[in-house]
Amino acid sequence: MSKIKVAEIFYSIQGEGRFMGVPSVFLRTFGCNFKCEGFGMAKGEKSNERNVIAVDSERYKNYNDLPLVHTGCDSYASWDPRFKHLSPVWNSDDLAEHIVSLLPQGRWNEEHLVITGGEPLLGWQKAYKDLLEHPKMKPLKHITFETNGTQKLTPDFCTYFNQRFKEDKKKLTFSVSPKLSVSGESWDDAIKEKVVDSYRLTGDTYLKFVIANQDDVEEVKKAVEQFNSTIPEPFEHSGKMYNVPKYDVYVMPCGGDEDMYNLNKGQVANIAMENGWRYSDRLQIPLFKNAWGT
Ligand code: SF4
Repeated sequence: MSKIKVAEIFYSIQGEGRFMGVPSVFLRTFGCNFKCEGFGMAKGEKSNERNVIAVDSERYKNYNDLPLVHTGCDSYASWDPRFKHLSPVWNSDDLAEHIVSLLPQGRWNEEHLVITGGEPLLGWQKAYKDLLEHPKMKPLKHITFETNGTQKLTPDFCTYFNQRFKEDKKKLTFSVSPKLSVSGESWDDAIKEKVVDSYRLTGDTYLKFVIANQDDVEEVKKAVEQFNSTIPEPFEHSGKMYNVPKYDVYVMPCGGDEDMYNLNKGQVANIAMENGWRYSDRLQIPLFKNAWGT
């Protein structure tokens, strides 16, 4: 039986990306390789909100007690070790039972499972097989990994999803959210086209960028070109032409709070239209005020 350190498990509406609006159970694993301290800050500056909260981190007993932040990573407690006491370790059997108990009918129908973070491909890849092979998880039809696109897939992970998962006609999606310089992470650490190329061979893969201004737009263009550089040009084989599609690109407004999101969303929709990209909302902000567990 495998174990996973879990930051949050909750049932909600998918607020972002290709499956916006789909009722989903979210499994937020603990741990991330980034900090993303630059979100919502002036260029080159880092958010200190998380550090201020962490001074007294032991007094928080569960996620719902934690303050929301308006700058930096909005899921900071899912990776900052000062909040690790809020994230228990679950064995895969108990986790599967709990996940299914959150579904409105106590069993899977059309709901999705979204495995998010933190960075869910960082340390837990070996645990997902046991979780998904639990009898109560078998009727599940669709999983999305929400990832920052920097972690290589292990051979065992690829074998499981490419064989067993596909035999069962289940669908796997990688929602890749590469971090632009607004995050505070470096380009070389964040834009890993060869890593993301390997996701494409295992599941449906699309790119989703958070943008706040014109500088971000230029970076999205550059990043998309870099990601698409791994995709073969149309080629002929045995007299037939094959065309490997480029990545679908979603752009999403920056906004740790509703004011920032409202300022930014119309602008981002226009940018999406101008560039032939897709607009992604962040429905968890207008619907649920970006609270923990949504
Ligand atoms: S990659 Fe995601 S979870 Fe990790 S620090 Fe950045 S925003 Fe937070």
